Amino acid sequence: AKEMGRNQFQFSSPYSKRRIKQKLYIEQGLKSALANNEFKLLYQPQISVGKSTEHRIEALIRWMHPTQGLVTPADFISIAEESGIIIDIGKWVLKSACEQISILRNAGIYTKISINVSPKQFKYSDLTEDVRSTLQEFKIDPSQLEIEVTESIFVEEMDDVIKQLEALRALGVSISLDDFGTGYSSLSYLKRLPLNILKIDRSFISELPNNKHSQTIVESIIRMAHQLSIQVIAEGVENQAQLDYLKKLDCDFVQGYLFSIPLETRELFTLYQSLSVQ
Ligand code: C2E
Ligand code: CA
Ligand code: CA
Ligand code: CA
Repeated sequence: AKEMGRNQFQFSSPYSKRRIKQKLYIEQGLKSALANNEFKLLYQPQISVGKSTEHRIEALIRWMHPTQGLVTPADFISIAEESGIIIDIGKWVLKSACEQISILRNAGIYTKISINVSPKQFKYSDLTEDVRSTLQEFKIDPSQLEIEVTESIFVEEMDDVIKQLEALRALGVSISLDDFGTGYSSLSYLKRLPLNILKIDRSFISELPNNKHSQTIVESIIRMAHQLSIQVIAEGVENQAQLDYLKKLDCDFVQGYLFSIPLETRELFTLYQSLSVQ
């Protein structure tokens, strides 16, 4: 085993060599991406299917690489996390989303924007202070910003993470738990978390309405969340049958290609204009 370990790189397939090269290439590129303004945010609407009249959208990052073209987060977020660059990218995301909130508001459009936050931002930066100062810089009503975290933040010091989430909530921003059902957390400690929103992972939604197993899971998540006064967003809603089923279960919001793919800002304006005409 020792020998194999030593020769591992030599024996690795061309595929994994290519992967390593690719990774180094991305890591190099990330260093200049912020300075060269290569990131942008797309915005995907989250549609109310219940009583709420709230408008909300999720910000999703894209990297316009000078030679590679469009790079999706799946291809660079984990590399950015390993190299630490995620901290500065996270700050850029926060700032850009707040700027967008203020641009929309100046156009008479009042919407909540949720941003995805990496566990590293909780561990290696003062997220609460960054959020506080950015809200102030753009004169944003804190209730217009939401922080999306995944269950993976709780691999870190649970008590510290809860403290930070509570500090964020004290500022007036809301917290949503993303990809629910795929991670490490157990239902029992949901009670301890200061949450406003729970997002049911796409893997459960994609099997609706016919898969009995997913039916049961989705139904119990919604019922349990509501008992804890937490609203529910279903992710990855792609067809009418899924939507009908989720409505029947009293789901609060849906997000997915059935309504809209993630949009460029100008498309977002077009969407809101068409909404206000009706
Ligand atoms: P996520 O937060 O779970 O975001 C949902 C992903 O599902 C997005 O992929 C979105 O484009 C995609 N999606 C939306 N509706 C549908 C649908 O109906 N069907 C299918 N098949 N997919 C749908 P995207 O934009 O590629 O983002 C992937 C992941 O990258 C995100 O998953 C999130 O974990 C991460 N990410 C995105 N933006 C950021 C960011 O600004 N910061 C950090 N730290 N992570 C981000
Ligand atoms: Ca998300
Ligand atoms: Ca998700
Ligand atoms: Ca995800």
